[in-house]
Amino acid sequence: MPIDLSTPPVPISFEVYPPRTEAGWPVLHETIRHLASVDPRFISVTYGAGGSTGGRSLELLTHILRETTVEPLAHLTCVGNTWAGANALIREFLDAGITSFLALRGDPPVGATEDDAFLGDLESAAQLVQLIDRVQAEREPYIEAPIPGVPGAARVDRRGDVDIAVAAFPNGHPRSRHATEHIDALLAKQAAGATLAITQLFFHADDYLGFVQRAREAGVTIPILPGIMPITSPARLRRTLELTEVARPDALAAALEAEESSEARRAVGVAHAAELAREVLEGGAPGIHLYAFNNHETVLAVLHDAGIVDVRARMPSAVR
Ligand code: FAD
Repeated sequence: MPIDLSTPPVPISFEVYPPRTEAGWPVLHETIRHLASVDPRFISVTYGAGGSTGGRSLELLTHILRETTVEPLAHLTCVGNTWAGANALIREFLDAGITSFLALRGDPPVGATEDDAFLGDLESAAQLVQLIDRVQAEREPYIEAPIPGVPGAARVDRRGDVDIAVAAFPNGHPRSRHATEHIDALLAKQAAGATLAITQLFFHADDYLGFVQRAREAGVTIPILPGIMPITSPARLRRTLELTEVARPDALAAALEAEESSEARRAVGVAHAAELAREVLEGGAPGIHLYAFNNHETVLAVLHDAGIVDVRARMPSAVR
């Protein structure tokens, strides 16, 4: 089912990651039930993020496919794979019924750094976008579809297109060699067939809105979905800044540090994320993508406080 960001209410989506241990499944299944209850356009599942293995991603994606009415969106990366291996991996996901992807270059695996050769045959997300598109085209052969109103005529059509999203970086990518390289990379991914961009987290609405404007001026036409991460503790902020190399948001950091209890810190993070969501929507964002950290309560509180979803009125209706 294509991802539709064009119809009201405000399109929302979430990112989750596979559990680190078998024991984590029941809690995550419960989280998915709650996330599904607010009718997100999709729930995305990370692949090998932060250097972990991709092992359980497909299991989580198929759970979302079978147990909810929500579109599962699979992150896939270029890390450590040959062309043949990446081809087989994409086929495995397609065979399982997954038709929405987020094509990424990928983080270095545990023990490797950005300076190590960790990628494999594919060197960029744009190449992965092309490969997903090609594997799908080979798997689903072209068919002849009748042309309405023209008896006897047929056009060659492709069965079962896939949706391919890509990453975008409002504050630039840490490895970019010049100021516009991340926008050039986004243009390359769009040209390769991407239909949606999801941004790295950012802390100020102007970072996102300014980036979208620059991307549009450069020729990016695909929707750019703002990725918002509620930061609920100083420790999470530190870890996030280490991973993303985004500049420290001083006011948020001070507000988190000023609070003693985890509840009060969580309230600071929720209020900040809700305000950010409101501001980017007012600025024209096509929806809100929330990094859920496998916890439904915080992201649902953000949506509620931002006035996007009346969480209290919702029941787990999207659960079959
Ligand atoms: P690309 O589009 O290929 O390139 C990104 C940038 O790198 C370019 O803008 C360019 O400036 C720079 N660059 C590219 N090639 C070079 C080069 N040769 N030398 C110098 N600079 C270069 N990672 C995971 O492992 N698993 C995940 O599930 C995951 N999920 C993510 C979800 C989102 C929404 C985002 C924003 C990121 C995610 N990441 C994940 C992290 C991502 O893989 C890294 O940020 C990676 O470094 C860039 O990925 P990309 O797909 O944007 O790469």
